Amino acid sequence: MNIPQINLKRQYDALKEEIEPAVSRVFEGGNFILGKEVKCFEEEMKAFIGVKYALGVGNGTDALTLALKAIGIGPGDEVITVPFTFFSTPEVICNLGARPVFVDIDRHSCNIDPGKIEEKITGRTKAILPVDLYGQSADMEEITKIAKRHNLFVIEDAAQAMGASYKGKRVGSISDIACASFFPTKNLGAAGDGGMLFTNNDELYNLLFSFRVHGASRKYHHERLGFNSRLDEVQAAILRVKLKRLDKWNKRRRYIGGLYTRAFSGFVETPYIKDGNVHIFHQYTIKTKKRDSLTQFLRENGIATAVHYPIPCHLQPALKWLGYKKGDFPVAEEIADAVLSLPVYPELRDDEVEYVIRAVRNFFEKKLDKE
Ligand SMILES: *Cc1c(COP(=O)(O)O)cnc(C)c1O
Repeated sequence: MNIPQINLKRQYDALKEEIEPAVSRVFEGGNFILGKEVKCFEEEMKAFIGVKYALGVGNGTDALTLALKAIGIGPGDEVITVPFTFFSTPEVICNLGARPVFVDIDRHSCNIDPGKIEEKITGRTKAILPVDLYGQSADMEEITKIAKRHNLFVIEDAAQAMGASYKGKRVGSISDIACASFFPTKNLGAAGDGGMLFTNNDELYNLLFSFRVHGASRKYHHERLGFNSRLDEVQAAILRVKLKRLDKWNKRRRYIGGLYTRAFSGFVETPYIKDGNVHIFHQYTIKTKKRDSLTQFLRENGIATAVHYPIPCHLQPALKWLGYKKGDFPVAEEIADAVLSLPVYPELRDDEVEYVIRAVRNFFEKKLDKE
């Protein structure tokens, strides 16, 4: 068998009959930027998330940039975030002239450890930027409490958690501004780049609305400096087709995740799901000290895996100037050496899931025999 880490062709084959007319509808209409499709998709996402405003933007990274810009982040400011995330998260903070201040992660959930946030708050701290890693919400209740106590904004990087929920609420409806990415490999992926902002705050929404069109609230009237960052009509038309399936897809991801967890318990450290969370397994990520040999074994058996992420952000050369060193975030560093993401996508067939399970178990059973 040959099992890639993700299989977008299989998804396309299943949706072709709906995607192709949706795309040609856009071409027939001749309107490619901020037309009917984006408007409708924003309405549908608002209903899906349960939030007052949704705004389509160019990509997830831009969503983060616009969100931070809307709360006034600039030179001299500090934003608290995690070192264990995709590079975008600290990158946008730096690109606005501000400073990312890292807080180590919880070793089980791999999300920000709320107990370590307060010691990092200074007079310059403006916001906390948690990430919902692998498809599981960060501990938003604790984070919100701390933010309230210190008068900070909470900007959420929800790029991996569309459809997940936290204590009965959808991710995207809980923080001051939440940011989504529709990068093709995300749970809800476009056929190119795309992103979205969610907020319940009127004032922040008006700012975000103008930021995506050069700081104009009316055409050619520029109240402020903004950006050019829009979700385009073709992407929105495709995303509308996929959104209708998202709950079903996430359910299938959770089903596969459940099978993996049952099969691997006792062999390897499986993903930890915190009480009150609905984890949608954007990634199914195990932790093992034998990562390299497991990776190779699975590769030899036709199973592709991935490491999210091999180098924590504080050790990236691009962030060297922040002055962090090895040992500063021991949990993130330990986890970066241990994580391995197995194939988990709705199109994965039952026999393929079985095959992955057998291969992983074979590896550990053989290893145990030898030791
Ligand atoms: C994908 C991702 C982003 C960036 O999204 P893009 O659409 O690729 O710009 C940011 N943060 C996290 C955690 C992500 O997974």
